Amino acid sequence: MSAVRTLSPPAADEARRQTALDAYGVVDTVPEQAYDDIVRLAVTLCDVPAAAISLIDHERQWFKAQIGLNTRETPRAEAICDQAIRNPGTTLVIDDLAQSGLPASSLRIDGDPLRFYAGVPLLSPDGQPLGAVCVLDSKPRTLTQGQREGLEVLARQTQHLLELRRYAMEQRRLLSEREAFAQRLEDAHADLQRRNALLQHSATHDALTGLLNRAALAQLRDNPDAMRQLQQSPYTLMLLDVDHFKDVNDRHGHLLGDRALRAVADAVAASIRERDIAVRYGGEEFLILLPDTRLASAVQVAERIRNRIALAPLPFSLTVSIGLASGEPTRDWSEQVFDRADQALYRAKATGRNRVVVDDTPLHHG
Ligand code: GH3
Ligand code: MG
Ligand code: MG
Repeated sequence: MSAVRTLSPPAADEARRQTALDAYGVVDTVPEQAYDDIVRLAVTLCDVPAAAISLIDHERQWFKAQIGLNTRETPRAEAICDQAIRNPGTTLVIDDLAQSGLPASSLRIDGDPLRFYAGVPLLSPDGQPLGAVCVLDSKPRTLTQGQREGLEVLARQTQHLLELRRYAMEQRRLLSEREAFAQRLEDAHADLQRRNALLQHSATHDALTGLLNRAALAQLRDNPDAMRQLQQSPYTLMLLDVDHFKDVNDRHGHLLGDRALRAVADAVAASIRERDIAVRYGGEEFLILLPDTRLASAVQVAERIRNRIALAPLPFSLTVSIGLASGEPTRDWSEQVFDRADQALYRAKATGRNRVVVDDTPLHHG
């Protein structure tokens, strides 16, 4: 066997080669049975004491699998497999390394230096050399034609294993990318729902008091199912108007006026049930719909509200007038009930304010 010339590949080729190797993510992984089996077959086939699957990394050769050697890696400068990959399409056989002129390897077989080397380059599908499947001996020797061809078969099998590994890695990467994308989509959807809920809330709620606004009441009125539900049993409509509120603003300023309105809303909210509907109907006017509530119970609720407002922690006394009217299912239209509650409120104002007045219109049957 003639001496092997040692030469370095151009830097650009080496960068491509290293990139190709990195794509397998195989260097420094744990031993795997499939690769171990290949080196086991190699030693049996070639009747040698040592074999390895060597991968040529930046500055070292690293063995994915090996039998009979004293290490898992060596410096690249002394790697004979690095010489083998300079001729990617060719199996390199060196019968006696001592005669080859190659730098001595630190590899030992049972403590003895290497004398024989045969290696088949491992290639990526686009021809980038990655490393070699090699057999080694501490005695000079050579391979038969059959052994050489068998070693080339094992190199092809190793390439298949590497391709499978890369394919599996790519699938995992795609899967995790898809999962990350799905997660982003889900997050965006949740964010949109949050914004929608906020938007919906601010469209239907009064910013000052947090109660429902007039638009929400209009939506409710436009919804026959909701209205039917609310009016299934006797219900009571309450209209509340703050007394002399203009004076409150004039004497104490708008900021305290706003605080007074919030106190009214808090008193209302604290006095009603979950299913009752409280609306800031106008500037200092509130509408409260009490489903399934007869007039007598509604009067108690109204008095509770009036008392709470009287006790509100404000630097001035605040009173309200409340008008109430009840509706029977199927008998009254809500517009009529509203008008009657409004008239009751008018009478509360006219008879001195700070009071609860109930609608006394006789129910017309028909
Ligand atoms: P009455 O007892 O007859 O109801 O007298 P009033 O002064 O309460 O009635 P009026 O309707 O004349 O005045 C209502 C006042 O409510 C006028 C308006 O400036 C005030 N107002 C309406 N909305 C707001 C608000 O959001 N904040 C404040 N501070 N005042 C408001
Ligand atoms: Mg008013
Ligand atoms: Mg008023």
